[in-house]
Amino acid sequence: MELARAKKKLLRSLGRQIASGAVLRAMAEVPRELFVPIESRHLAYEDVALSIGEGQTISQPYIVAMMTQALELRGNERVLEIGTGSGYQAAILSLMLPDSHLISTERVPVLAERARSLLQTLGYSNVTVELAGETLGVPHHGPPRGPFDAIIVTAAAPNLPPSLTSQLAIGGRLVIPIGSLDRQELTQARRTDEGLSIHWLGTCRFVPLIGNDGFGGVDPTRPGALESDA
Ligand code: SAH
Repeated sequence: MELARAKKKLLRSLGRQIASGAVLRAMAEVPRELFVPIESRHLAYEDVALSIGEGQTISQPYIVAMMTQALELRGNERVLEIGTGSGYQAAILSLMLPDSHLISTERVPVLAERARSLLQTLGYSNVTVELAGETLGVPHHGPPRGPFDAIIVTAAAPNLPPSLTSQLAIGGRLVIPIGSLDRQELTQARRTDEGLSIHWLGTCRFVPLIGNDGFGGVDPTRPGALESDA
């Protein structure tokens, strides 16, 4: 009951900030309380990021809604997510893609396994969770899985990763936090015939993207290594 009331309140607040009805409907449908650890379930509908273990976080609902909206989905696009984490953003995207499929990659095996099994149990059957390789995304797959019409990166990158812009179709959108470890600009990059057109959507704070095109030498699995509120 308490959770239901908190969810209503959160959706009212998102409704004042997010224009996309499809995004708001997806946020209303997905049970975020099942994607957070049991001990923080009572906080599931506060508009905050929460720890999911392994030094990682489930993003703040407002940020999830804004990033999803910025992907400009109609429902039939090929979409890639980098950073499955809890699987919550993937569940939202699953509902946004009734006629298509999402590939989501995660570098921490235990998180990938947990998200895969939860998404399957809850019936989000158009999502495939893959363990991340050396290079961002799934370039080894080639067509027909890539290029992608939309790519969402839910971890902070120091720059726009060429390994991802090269996996974007013409007209495709990449939504990614870019900046330092402490603070990033949420960025929408659209691939056009002439190159990339860039829009900034606001500041945010995410856990770091690790590996090629990410932040080297940061170990987010070390307890207390990083605090994040995105
Ligand atoms: N979208 C998630 C939030 C994830 S937090 C959710 O809805 O819960 C960011 C995630 O990115 C972490 O789980 C982290 O392990 C993962 N990550 C970091 N670097 C990565 C990389 N190079 N490839 C794939 N995942 C990565």
